[in-house]
Amino acid sequence: MKCPLCDLETSETVAICSCGYNFKECEVTDSVRVRNFIKAVPTWQERVLRVEKVNRIQFAKHGSKGNHPGRANAPGWSQNDTARLLGIHPSTMTRHMRQAEGLATCPQLQRCSTMKAAHQAIGLREKGIQEDVFGSEEELRGFIEQNWDEIKELSSEWEIAVRWRDLDLLAKHKTDGRCLVIELKLDREADKVVGQILRYMGEVRIHRSGGSAVEGLIICRTADEGLVYALACMEKISLREYSLCAGKLSLTAVSIPHTAAEWKCRNFRRAIKRCSAEELEALTKVLEKRKLELNQ
Ligand SMILES: [Zn+2]
Repeated sequence: MKCPLCDLETSETVAICSCGYNFKECEVTDSVRVRNFIKAVPTWQERVLRVEKVNRIQFAKHGSKGNHPGRANAPGWSQNDTARLLGIHPSTMTRHMRQAEGLATCPQLQRCSTMKAAHQAIGLREKGIQEDVFGSEEELRGFIEQNWDEIKELSSEWEIAVRWRDLDLLAKHKTDGRCLVIELKLDREADKVVGQILRYMGEVRIHRSGGSAVEGLIICRTADEGLVYALACMEKISLREYSLCAGKLSLTAVSIPHTAAEWKCRNFRRAIKRCSAEELEALTKVLEKRKLELNQ
């Protein structure tokens, strides 16, 4: 017979499955086995789904205690009872249930390498903010690779090339064969990222491009000052900021200033973006006054 918890085939004579499921009682009764069963999987996603399944089985057997007062002693089952069975804190149990629900409705969570990152992502999602959930550059790389065709900013001109050495991503121009070395930056220092992309561009130019031109692209969450300064002297490297909304990644080109006036403008524009409505109103007044002074 097949165990409804671990899905393994077990002989008819076994009363309790190695996962802790009791075939006669149709519920999980062996707390030692079930705790080991949950611990035995390598990823947090699998662990959370196992916890959710145990909870589901117990509810199916006992029914819900409901929300009435004094429910601790009422007949039926509650999430806290599952927490007790599994030896985890009720708040951890609540978090696991949210994560299990999140995994079913938001596939991006599958890519969160840690439970903490997933929990943050769920919190942000519940607040209505679509935030990126990339816990590492590797996750971002995987996402771009899988969704290349949907990222029009790249796929309209470039096609992704086979992964080469330890480059983040390599692409080839669809018509003229130029190479594009893509480097991803989540939280590494700007100097390191720029140094690395230059080295990769050199490697591609010498060993891979067949004489075609080589360009670079750095994709980051937000362009920091160091990165922008470094690229002011690197005409062949462009910079884009990514944002993720409803599972769709967009890339916005970051213009690199080349003069002090352009630099001032850049900072001004960024500051304005962060202003509240009241601040903008006050600023408008100041600007109007300044304009009048300049015109006099
Ligand atoms: Zn089992």
